[in-house]
Amino acid sequence: MENCIFCGIIEGRIPCEKVYEDENVLAFKDINPEAPVHVLVIPKKHIESINALDESNISILAPIYRALKKIAVDFNISESGYRVVTNCGEDAGQTVQHIHFHLLGGRSLNWPPG
Ligand code: 5GP
Ligand code: ZN
Repeated sequence: MENCIFCGIIEGRIPCEKVYEDENVLAFKDINPEAPVHVLVIPKKHIESINALDESNISILAPIYRALKKIAVDFNISESGYRVVTNCGEDAGQTVQHIHFHLLGGRSLNWPPG
């Protein structure tokens, strides 16, 4: 998708610090980390947000969560704990309109997030 930063990363037009890749999924470090581990996991297919999930694309969630689990092990936060966040829409602060899953860990995380 033109004008989508994350599609630009998938297509290699925009650099990233890649941490995981398979046929369906790409994961890379967030450019502005909010925790010692802050990785973004995205589908290679452009999907705007949770609101755009439907029967044609919802099967992407299994590979996404498989990748999240593996990356948590690779970054050694599987046992200490971590959070997975997907912001959807304006009130949640979604700034990139390509669905993404923040994997946050490596420190104690506040709850509720506020
Ligand atoms: P959102 O606010 O939409 O939930 O999250 C978007 C995230 O993407 C933010 O945490 C932001 O730091 C990250 N981000 C935005 N542009 C880039 C980029 O070009 N490269 C990387 N690695 N992260 C980005
Ligand atoms: Zn995109």
